[in-house]
Amino acid sequence: MRTPILSLTLLPFLASTTSAQENEQDRPPIIDVHVHAYAEDDRWALGAPNPRTGQPLTAASEQAHMQASFDEMKKYHIVTAVVSNDYDAALRWKAAWPDHILVSYGFDDPDEADLAFIRREHAAGRLVALGELGLQYMGIGPNDPRMEPLWALAEELDVPVGLHTGLAPPGTPYTCCPKFRITLGNPALLEEVLIRHPSLRVYLMHAGFPYVQETIAIMHMYPQVYADLGVLDWSRPREEFHEYLRTLIRSGLGERLMFGSDQMIWPEAIGMAIEGIESASFLTEEQKRDILYNNAVRFFRLDQ
Ligand SMILES: [Zn+2]
Repeated sequence: MRTPILSLTLLPFLASTTSAQENEQDRPPIIDVHVHAYAEDDRWALGAPNPRTGQPLTAASEQAHMQASFDEMKKYHIVTAVVSNDYDAALRWKAAWPDHILVSYGFDDPDEADLAFIRREHAAGRLVALGELGLQYMGIGPNDPRMEPLWALAEELDVPVGLHTGLAPPGTPYTCCPKFRITLGNPALLEEVLIRHPSLRVYLMHAGFPYVQETIAIMHMYPQVYADLGVLDWSRPREEFHEYLRTLIRSGLGERLMFGSDQMIWPEAIGMAIEGIESASFLTEEQKRDILYNNAVRFFRLDQ
């Protein structure tokens, strides 16, 4: 919105808007398969700083968080985002930016997942994926019998499923989630599920980090399994992330790795995550395009 009367304090804002618009036109499109929407969050009240930069929280309400996330997406030309966490909040994101948001139904406890609701939402065309499944936070592995009806439903409906793997913030079992265990994030625990449900379309959120051997093993044996690089690409030390990514690329998995930011409550992490991919000098331009866009189009069948 242009206004004829410019105050000096508005100038920096307008300048950044202009460069964002230029960026959007220049950049090739990106798909972010790991985005969170919240109706409320304890970390907003605590003012939790960005864990990587230490910078203060900038958006502490649903509306502010959504708008700041959209601004960041537009700046980097993210054309599609798979949004989960609070389902109703994700629907509001979709209402606010309809052609760009895909809504995913996430849960931590399979006993609280509503199968009839999933069916209805899928039939209505609103639900396109299941995830983020934070089973690990409840002390539950993907091979737990309580998950069986959900794996069966996902296979029947042919919807992609994003499973949280690997780690969580330091001290997690002492705070929110006493049942959290590192070992439940081992991607190898998916094997029996993949045997029982060979048509299941599952992606390993956080690419199984730091279980690199098990991630390679599962993705080698089960070519239908994809992975996203969410949170690793911005919150881990860059050198370590690049080493992990390079190992997966060397194993020939470059056509099944997808960009995810997992921005959580820090919208600026979206840009940090993209820079994490773009700064990987060992990737060819083609490999970067695969990670940032092409692989997600194939996995989510966005061209159909
Ligand atoms: Zn996660």
